[in-house]
Amino acid sequence: MHCPFCQHEDTRVIDSRLTEDGSTVRRRRECPQCAERFNTYETAELKLPAIVKSGERREPFDERKLRVSFERALQKRPVSSNDVDAAVRAIVNDLRRSGEREVPSRQLGELVMRELKNLDQVAYVRFASVYRKFEDVQAFREEIERLERDLPGLADLQLPLLGGGKREGK
Ligand SMILES: [Zn+2]
Repeated sequence: MHCPFCQHEDTRVIDSRLTEDGSTVRRRRECPQCAERFNTYETAELKLPAIVKSGERREPFDERKLRVSFERALQKRPVSSNDVDAAVRAIVNDLRRSGEREVPSRQLGELVMRELKNLDQVAYVRFASVYRKFEDVQAFREEIERLERDLPGLADLQLPLLGGGKREGK
């Protein structure tokens, strides 16, 4: 790195240490030309992307909101909060890893569906029925048909958005 004092093209690292919390490396550098010393700090770039909603509206990624989506879909389902934590973490890590500055909300929805699919098929359908309704009716219908084949009894669940709704007992 260039010397900020004399603009010499190279500087030497004379000391390197981790900050107390382990999140930053502090390097002490010295310029071989003017002998000035200065510090540099190295931290991981972990900024999460902004979420682009419909109509180009942007909002900062909100982990709490993401968790609420999971909890809503998983209401009264036998899924532990540890598993929800892990699913939320997996999504946050994906977003970080992507290095994107902006992510369409649709893409975030796909990630939620991916996780719900593994956690609980009923929660997955709940989320998808609300979410996909506006996105891709045909794909959703195919997904429901697939699930009905795989999960007999699905039609007995209370999923008003799937048509039919709750059956009256005799
Ligand atoms: Zn210098």
